[in-house]
Amino acid sequence: MKYFIKTFGCQQNHADSERIESTLKARHMTKARSYKTADYIVINTCMIRESAENRVYGLVNNLGKLKSAGWRMKIIVTGCMVGLAFRDKTGKYLRKIRETMPEVDEFLPIEEIGFDNAPVRQNSLNAWVPISNGCNNFCTFCVVPFTRGREISRPYQDIIQECLELKKKGYKNVTLLGQNVNSYGADLILGEKNVQVMRDLDKTYFEKTKSLNFLRLGMSSVEDGKGTHWRQKISVTSFKDVKPVYVKHLGRFRIPTLFPHLLEQVAKMNFEKVDFISSNPWDFSDELIDVIARNKNITRLIHLPIQSGDDNVLKRMNRWYTQKQYIDLINKLKKKIPGVKFSTDIIVGFCGETEKEFLSTVNLAKEVGFEKAYLAMYSSRFGTAATKYLKDDIPHTVKEKRWLTLEKLINRPHLKKYH
Ligand code: SF4
Repeated sequence: MKYFIKTFGCQQNHADSERIESTLKARHMTKARSYKTADYIVINTCMIRESAENRVYGLVNNLGKLKSAGWRMKIIVTGCMVGLAFRDKTGKYLRKIRETMPEVDEFLPIEEIGFDNAPVRQNSLNAWVPISNGCNNFCTFCVVPFTRGREISRPYQDIIQECLELKKKGYKNVTLLGQNVNSYGADLILGEKNVQVMRDLDKTYFEKTKSLNFLRLGMSSVEDGKGTHWRQKISVTSFKDVKPVYVKHLGRFRIPTLFPHLLEQVAKMNFEKVDFISSNPWDFSDELIDVIARNKNITRLIHLPIQSGDDNVLKRMNRWYTQKQYIDLINKLKKKIPGVKFSTDIIVGFCGETEKEFLSTVNLAKEVGFEKAYLAMYSSRFGTAATKYLKDDIPHTVKEKRWLTLEKLINRPHLKKYH
C-alpha cells in the first residue's frame, strides 16, 4: 500500500502531517511520489479562510473524478475541517462536508490518527516541535478554538526530550509551535478545565496561588516490546525548577505560563536558531523579553499578530489590547533586544471596518515598520462569534483595495512606484 499526504495550512498542520506519516509508515505503507500512484490519500485540511476550505473541496472533487474513472484509492480527510465537524454539536458542519465531498471514504479526527511514533521530518536541519494545541482566546473571527478545541499543552519533559534528541541528530534549528505559544503551560498549572474560567486572575487569587505547590510535570517511560513510550507522570510537589510566570495585562494577572522557562531551556541546548510561532501580544511577559534578550540564538524576527491597528476593531475582534499597548510592547522589545524585527498577521475588511479604522492599521504599520505581514481579507467562518453576531458588510472590492495598500506598504514597497 502506498500513501500520499496533502497538507493545507499552517506549520502546525505540516507538523501534524509529519506525525501522520510516521503512523502510516508504522502500518508498513510506503510513500507514493504523487497521488496518482497512491492507494491511500490523506488530506490534512485548513479552514482558517474560505479560500483554504475551497481548495480542499476542489482537490477532493478532482480526486472524485479519478475515482469515478476507475482509479483505486481511498480518500481520508482529516485536520481542521474534520476537527470542527466533530466538535460542532449541531452536526450541521459534518453534514455539510459529507454532502459536499461524497467521494471521501473517511473523515478522521486528527487525534484518532495517532501520535505515538516519532515524526517523519521533512527537513534534516530545521525541525518543528509542537508544544501546544488549540486555543482558549476566541477571537471573534477565528475558527481555531472550534477546529482544534481548547488549548492543551504538551508535557514539559516530553518537549525537552524531543529537542534533546533533535540536537543529538544534528538539527540546527527548531521552531516551537502552538496557536498561542506564550500561554504554554497555563493548563498544566491551573488544570485544563480551569483555564477558561480563570484566564483573568484577580489579585487575591494570584496572591493565593503564588505560594501554592504546583503540579510537577514529569515523564515516565514505558517499555511494551515495540519500543519506549513516554507517558506523563504528574505528582504534586514544589515547583523548584520551573516557576510559572504570571502575565500581567491591563492591571490583572491574566494567566500563568511556563513558556519563558521552556524557551530558555531549549535555547541552552545550543541550536543555531530557536524560533517560536505564534505568540500573542497580551501574553508577552517581561520575563519572555528577558529570555530572548539574553539568548542570542533565539530568533530576532518575532511574529506578533496585530490583526488590526484600530482599538474599536480590536474590541469587535475580542482582542484584548489597544493600539497603544501593542506599540508600547514593540518599543519595549526594540529597546531590550537590539536589532529585533517583527512580522505580523493583519485582517482587512473585518465586519464594519470603516476607512478611518483601516487607516489606523496603516499608521500602525508605518510606525512599527514590519518586515513582513501575512495579510488576509476577512471571510466569515462557520460557528464563530463574528459570523453569528456581526455583519460581513465590507464589499470585496474594498477588501481587495485595503489588502493591496498594506501589501504595497509592508511586503512589496518597491511596487509603490508603479501605482
Ligand atoms: S489567539 Fe489566534 S488562534 Fe486563538 S482565537 Fe485568536 S486568532 Fe485564533
